Amino acid sequence: MTDVTRRGLLAGSAAAAAALPAFAARPASAAAPATGKQATGLYRYKVGGYELTALHDGTWYRPIDDKFIRNADYADVRKAMSNAFMPADKLSTPFTTLLVNTGSKLVLLDTGTGGQVAPTAGTLGSNLAAAGIDPKAIDLIVISHFHPDHINGIKTKDNALVFPNAAIMVPAPEWAFWMDDANMRAAPDSLKGVFRNFRRIFTDIAKDVTRYEPGRDVVAGITTIPAFGHTPGHTIFAIQSGNQSLLALSDTTQHPALFARHPEWQPAFDVDGPAAVETRKKLLDRVAADKLLVTGYHFPFPACGHIVKTADGYEHVPMLWEPTL
Ligand SMILES: [Zn+2]
Repeated sequence: MTDVTRRGLLAGSAAAAAALPAFAARPASAAAPATGKQATGLYRYKVGGYELTALHDGTWYRPIDDKFIRNADYADVRKAMSNAFMPADKLSTPFTTLLVNTGSKLVLLDTGTGGQVAPTAGTLGSNLAAAGIDPKAIDLIVISHFHPDHINGIKTKDNALVFPNAAIMVPAPEWAFWMDDANMRAAPDSLKGVFRNFRRIFTDIAKDVTRYEPGRDVVAGITTIPAFGHTPGHTIFAIQSGNQSLLALSDTTQHPALFARHPEWQPAFDVDGPAAVETRKKLLDRVAADKLLVTGYHFPFPACGHIVKTADGYEHVPMLWEPTL
């Protein structure tokens, strides 16, 4: 059996190059210029009779340090990053919004960054256009929680509405927490910007925003489920059509290479670390046991797949690209 080693591969490719026929050494006459750009970031799949479109809004390369995980050794965090083939100090944080076409309504679950979070994010608009959807055609926006990467896409930097015809529904307990002045005063400095950003997005449209109690249906086929901890009103969504279903986990588990593999870790962005861990473990246990199709807002694109239980955590198994719906 051939012993494949890196040295062997390199030697092999040198030998192959030496053996190339003479014409291969000529400059290629049909070389295409490099595009330097990524392809369109959208992926469609079905849940029963509903057509879903995962829309990529770019990726933030989040700098992390020894304060990032409250209850883990930094060496272990660096090891987990290295195991995921990421640089040790920059967590890849992709954003994927989900558009649900129920046949009678176009529903957008979370709205992306609005290009206001990281220079490498903000592609929801161009990917929506590539999907052939006019922002004016969105009927309903349902928000999971109020971190900027989920709500900023409601408005442009200049406070114009991006989806002018969409009704907006937000979790009532989330609204109660972030709208409370006493909570803002008591918050650590790192959270004050989130309070201010929430007010910028919602204050002048407050009368048009519907607050839902997590646990209720927002439209036929989309049920909201409380998943508190990441934020006080953090909510996930069960989408059901026919005999198929999908659980949109929102930020229950941020990048699975860290937080599915280490569900007990408490990242600094979880407002209530212990509650977030309890919610995460409960939900990951359930979706693994029931083999439910899931999507996560910060899972690698197209962000859908399954969760399996491992000896000491969970692993995300991405859905395979399907050429047909
Ligand atoms: Zn998020």
